[in-house]
Amino acid sequence: MSYIENKVVAITGASSGIGEATARLLAENGAQIVLGARRTDRLEKLAAEITGAGGKAVFTKLDVTNAASVQDFIDFAISSFGKLDVLYSNAGVMPLSMMTSRKVDEWNRMIDVNIRGVLNGIAAALPVFEQQGFGHFINTASIGAHVVVPTGAVYCATKYAVWAISEGLRQESETTRVTTICPGVVETELGHDITEETSKGALSAFRKIALSPDAIARGVCYAIDQPDDVDVNEVIIRPTRSAF
Ligand code: NDP
Repeated sequence: MSYIENKVVAITGASSGIGEATARLLAENGAQIVLGARRTDRLEKLAAEITGAGGKAVFTKLDVTNAASVQDFIDFAISSFGKLDVLYSNAGVMPLSMMTSRKVDEWNRMIDVNIRGVLNGIAAALPVFEQQGFGHFINTASIGAHVVVPTGAVYCATKYAVWAISEGLRQESETTRVTTICPGVVETELGHDITEETSKGALSAFRKIALSPDAIARGVCYAIDQPDDVDVNEVIIRPTRSAF
């Protein structure tokens, strides 16, 4: 028996990488997918691909840093499919840099997308989950919620925050499930916005052992594919060869 089939799953950051791969895998398993991101041309293509293969997907423009946009995203999910089973807050950015570079605008962007984006999702979906009597938050932290590396101080701080927010939310919730996903290094577009040359070099060294986004998608599916009384709290997925 599948616990994924017919579930309505809203995915933030579905236009590339892990979000895109997870949307495909969940749709193949019978979930109804709501795709959100800023690049709607990509979402349109992905939604067409999923529906063309017999799946169900709709899309809308979403900026997770804007609370009203996130509220519209949740409303859109419910008006499209009549309920919301899962909010997968996956959107994230990672412009790594040394603290001495004082890239304050990039620090703020990471805080806005990675932390405020998740909080905006909780604020919009929690009343829905409480009213329904069921729901599931899946929040993307990172291996950077467990380990800090040079150039990653602020990025890791945002992911530690996501971990703490998710754990606090879990403790307070009796009917809503909460899962934190912690990927190790994965080959995606993440970090393409790095402006510091030394950080670019460090990332391409890490990426030599990167996982495919499908590896994380399978972890998300595992967390969703459980009976209501089973809450998979954290999934850490590293490349086997990764030391940390
Ligand atoms: P990608 O860069 O491929 O995907 C990031 C997604 O976030 C894109 O779809 C992007 O869409 C979206 N996004 C960025 N800013 C916003 C915004 N303001 N509003 C809405 N969507 C936004 O990277 P990944 O797939 O790798 O990243 C997914 C998650 O996984 C992130 O949270 C990342 O931190 C985490 N992670 C990734 C790891 C890796 O090695 N790749 C390791 C550990 C964690 P758009 O630009 O169209 O808005």
